[in-house]
Amino acid sequence: MNKPALQTTMIHSDYEAPAGFEALSVPIHHASTILFKDLASMRARNWQEKNSYTYGLHGTPTSFALEGRLAEIEGGKYCRLAPSGLAAIAMVNFALLKSGDDLLIPENAYGPSGELGHWLRRDFGITVRTYDPLIGAGIADLILPNTRLIWTEAPGSVTMEVPDIPAICRAAHERGVPVALDNTWSAGLAFKPFAHGIDITMQALTKYQSGGSDVLMGAAITCDPELHQKIERAHMLLGLGVGMDDVYLILRSLPSMKLRFDAHDSAARKLAAWLQTRTEIATVLHPAFADCPGHENWKRDFTGAAGLFSVVFDPRYTEEQTDRFVESLQLFKIGFSWGGAASLCVPYRVHTMRKNWAHQGQLVRMNVGLEAVEDLIADMEQAFLRM
Ligand SMILES: *Cc1c(COP(=O)(O)O)cnc(C)c1O
Repeated sequence: MNKPALQTTMIHSDYEAPAGFEALSVPIHHASTILFKDLASMRARNWQEKNSYTYGLHGTPTSFALEGRLAEIEGGKYCRLAPSGLAAIAMVNFALLKSGDDLLIPENAYGPSGELGHWLRRDFGITVRTYDPLIGAGIADLILPNTRLIWTEAPGSVTMEVPDIPAICRAAHERGVPVALDNTWSAGLAFKPFAHGIDITMQALTKYQSGGSDVLMGAAITCDPELHQKIERAHMLLGLGVGMDDVYLILRSLPSMKLRFDAHDSAARKLAAWLQTRTEIATVLHPAFADCPGHENWKRDFTGAAGLFSVVFDPRYTEEQTDRFVESLQLFKIGFSWGGAASLCVPYRVHTMRKNWAHQGQLVRMNVGLEAVEDLIADMEQAFLRM
């Protein structure tokens, strides 16, 4: 071949960086096209295994590294990333359900997960029923011959009930039904799902794994090769690829996650204990506190708590007053999501979301960030005065 034109050289360069580079960070491999060394390896490609590469959607060493680390944290074997926590929930649903099947989700489910349930029921011929999150072994009475999946959340991320996961799993397994857990609250650190019977765990990496309030991602993790194959198929057929720059952001935050989580835990418990002494607050819904429904399950099964909890105001305070409380806060910002460094606060109209909710007062959910807890307490103190 003649010396190629500059235009060609700019695409097919001869330069190769020297071998032997070592660093602590995982390299960011961006790729849609992945090259095969010959046709035999192209024809032997297999996107159901992680011992080779096939196409960007399947992943690159960067996403495989994050999947491997996430599986390790939860004590799982297989992991699949999805572009958000909600996408990971949808991926599990589409992996395991088909028209004619029945799905059970808790009454306190993450809002968009419940909305997805409505859509599956309305347009996909799947019956979706809700159950009391504290049902425990009683779930056995709800399992039908066509029940194919039971979702759990521990705890529910607004009303904070902690379910009896082992009891639900035992009843489900007797009938051959897999149980999935939205394990975002514990980040996989404070609750070991597979040791308690869970078949599939899901994480919104958007929360503690990211820690930066700046990236969306999710994951589904399992120990079971058959379940994993189904998840893998849904992942590929729905095209749920993730961007490697986002994967890198999560990889960069992961080494500090345990320290951040423990700091959120400690600050949240201090703030919750202080709130418990306030006459404005009727109930503190924090799984580590006795007033929280399912507290005994938390005590038995969990080794820590996250920075997310809710409070119920005394019913003598109107929504207008508790809104004034929230809007008077200066360090606590108004916004959804959690797990980042900044404290957040959101009021929820639980009475319109849940039929038989036990409380009369207004619920406000707090994400305790990484600010000094005495500053957070001072902030709440001034907001109570303005309320
Ligand atoms: C945030 C969240 C999700 C969804 O995660 P996104 O990445 O925001 O889609 C799912 N479950 C729980 C409990 C969450 O808090």
